[in-house]
Amino acid sequence: MASVHFNRIALIGIGLIGSSLAHAIKARGLTDHVAISSRSAATLARAEELGLGTSYHANAIDAVRDADLVIVSVPVGASGAVAAEIAPALKPGTILSDVGSTKTSVITQMAPHIPDGVHFIAGHPVAGTEHSGPDAGFATLFDGRWTILTPLPDADPDAVAKLRAFWEGVGSMVEEMDAAHHDKVMAIVSHLPHIIAYNIVGTAEDLETVTESEVIKYSASGFRDFTRLAASDPTMWRDVCLHNKDAILEMLARFSEDLAYLQRAIRWGEGDKLFDLFTRTRAIRRSIVQAGQDTAAPDFGRHALEQK
Ligand code: NAP
Repeated sequence: MASVHFNRIALIGIGLIGSSLAHAIKARGLTDHVAISSRSAATLARAEELGLGTSYHANAIDAVRDADLVIVSVPVGASGAVAAEIAPALKPGTILSDVGSTKTSVITQMAPHIPDGVHFIAGHPVAGTEHSGPDAGFATLFDGRWTILTPLPDADPDAVAKLRAFWEGVGSMVEEMDAAHHDKVMAIVSHLPHIIAYNIVGTAEDLETVTESEVIKYSASGFRDFTRLAASDPTMWRDVCLHNKDAILEMLARFSEDLAYLQRAIRWGEGDKLFDLFTRTRAIRRSIVQAGQDTAAPDFGRHALEQK
């Protein structure tokens, strides 16, 4: 099934994304050796207990030695320091990639450390859950989801093709675009929804006239769907906000304008405007289901997914 094979894959960072990669790599037989490293002894020990890899390394530099593919899966704010640490042990011909949710910042942080002859191609699997850590991963996380690669203009086409084949090997579909465009697209489809969710859940928590127990008791009316996003990892999302600042601020400005339009329509009883917007947004939901990125089952398909 796999059209690509690596002698040794190093996974630096073994949380949700790193451990999902480990499961998928094993399930699809993409390598003979998975070398794992994580910052803390506790996470590394847990990865070993779970049998996620072939060898386990307290220092990232030992994991990447002799690897022909290295995937860095750490919070985006840590990518520069990780690149600096592993750089001396990267051999020519190695493909180095990452999974960070922002791309311009990761490239700016990592690229200066990369030795000549090493193929650095940044990437981002657009797949995830609100859970973190090595126990959270599963082999099918990337199935039917998109991975975006953001190769630099001088990237080696063979290396890009090999990395593309790797992501296809773990179940993903692959698209290429430049890093700045990636960051704009993600600002609207991922970063803004999370920020809105953090904000609405924070507002509900701060309310004085509605109690917290009421918010929880009646949450099935809509609030609950925001809480899944707002339960996402605080470190990861702090870093995303700090490292995609410009694109997020641009989208937030646009969002605020549109919210003011909505606010005005509600204030002035302009039902037609509300109805028109709500009809257009419903069509987007249908397109997402048609594209296979969610199910049409009620309750956001969650019960259907849980029963699988
Ligand atoms: P996670 O489950 O929290 O795991 C994070 C991993 O990075 C752990 O191995 C952790 O090590 C390590 N780490 C944390 N801080 C570090 C630091 N300062 N220096 C070095 N290593 C550090 O995170 P994740 O969800 O897998 O996310 C990893 C990356 O994937 C992030 O860049 C994120 O933007 C991206 N991503 C996430 C999702 C998602 O839905 N979660 C989706 C797509 C992409 P210890 O546990 O040993 O401290």
